[in-house]
Amino acid sequence: MKIYLDNASTTKVYPSVVKEMEKFMVEEYGNASSTHALGENAKKAMNIAREKIAKEINAKPWEIIFTSGATEANNLALIGLAKASNKRKIVISAIEHPSITEPCRYLESIGYKIVRIPVDAQGHLRIDRLKDEVEKNSSEILVVSVMHVNNIIGTVQDIVKIGELCRKNNVLFHSDAAQSFGKLAVDASKLDLMSASGHKFGAGKGIGFLFIREGIKIEPIIYGGGQERGIRSGTENVPGIVGLAKALEMQKKVNKDKIMKIRQELIEELQKIGGKINGSIQERIYNNVNVSFPLVEAGTLIEYLSKKGIYLSSGSACDSKKEKEDETLRAIGLSDMEAKGAIRITLNEETSMKDIAFVLKEIGKAVKKLKFK
Ligand code: PMP
Repeated sequence: MKIYLDNASTTKVYPSVVKEMEKFMVEEYGNASSTHALGENAKKAMNIAREKIAKEINAKPWEIIFTSGATEANNLALIGLAKASNKRKIVISAIEHPSITEPCRYLESIGYKIVRIPVDAQGHLRIDRLKDEVEKNSSEILVVSVMHVNNIIGTVQDIVKIGELCRKNNVLFHSDAAQSFGKLAVDASKLDLMSASGHKFGAGKGIGFLFIREGIKIEPIIYGGGQERGIRSGTENVPGIVGLAKALEMQKKVNKDKIMKIRQELIEELQKIGGKINGSIQERIYNNVNVSFPLVEAGTLIEYLSKKGIYLSSGSACDSKKEKEDETLRAIGLSDMEAKGAIRITLNEETSMKDIAFVLKEIGKAVKKLKFK
């Protein structure tokens, strides 16, 4: 028995994506920079993929810079912009992923000022607070960075509204769309920069991109052969890139309503066994549930479920080994105990009602058994 409910951490790669990737590993394996036919074929395939991806978000193909994933894209966005400007203030939300908060911590250590805008109890950005900040200090702000979908509680931010607010005040706006690109419609026309990651929606690990609006000044953070318009040197990951475009196509076939229906059932049943849902019930990505069992420690529960073949996490995989409670859960006002008891369940199109019934039965047993321990 294997029930995988950790799709926000990473996803299974679609077999059709593997097939497409394999072609560019064992047949068309040329270097996209080589001028012979094998190289030309790789370049052509890469550029077709780039066009598809750009079209998906209303961008131009040359505004897509392929990276190794969203961590690199986020670092490139923040540090690359910082290197190209003399503005010294960065505004972020209080629930950003470490691939935003850590480069910010680095920039802070070399003299930048980081402003963290709080979120409400549902995980929504306090837009009034952001408005105050950008209206008062627009000339000092290098960039505002607010994630589209939170990786822990799945809250969806209104990035169009935030983008409009920033543009009105002549401030650049970046959004980390690692948890949304591929799954939700994203229109980059209101954004200036946007990060995405392939392995969150059925493409391979180690591929992603940064959308950079034409005309924005940015410096590379990796130097070398000048690939990706000199913004991101390094031999292009052609199999990863064609796989990313293929996964995008596959995602269009996903029946989101079916996943939402199963999730609704799961939420109601979790509440019946004493679970408290964290974050907004309505405005969260269709496959996310975050639930606390206050008298049960999440790590112990996850270990118990893992032994039964049920795989889920307590938060982001990058964070889960750390002792500290997750910052997102603290930012929405959870107590220590609630945060320590929070588990994240992220469904996919393979999750069935039968799976959910088994998971609920096992969680029910575990909650009774593990309480007060
Ligand atoms: N941002 C968010 C919101 C994420 O969930 C993740 C993945 N945990 C990342 C960035 C990092 O993406 P990658 O694994 O592609 O580096």
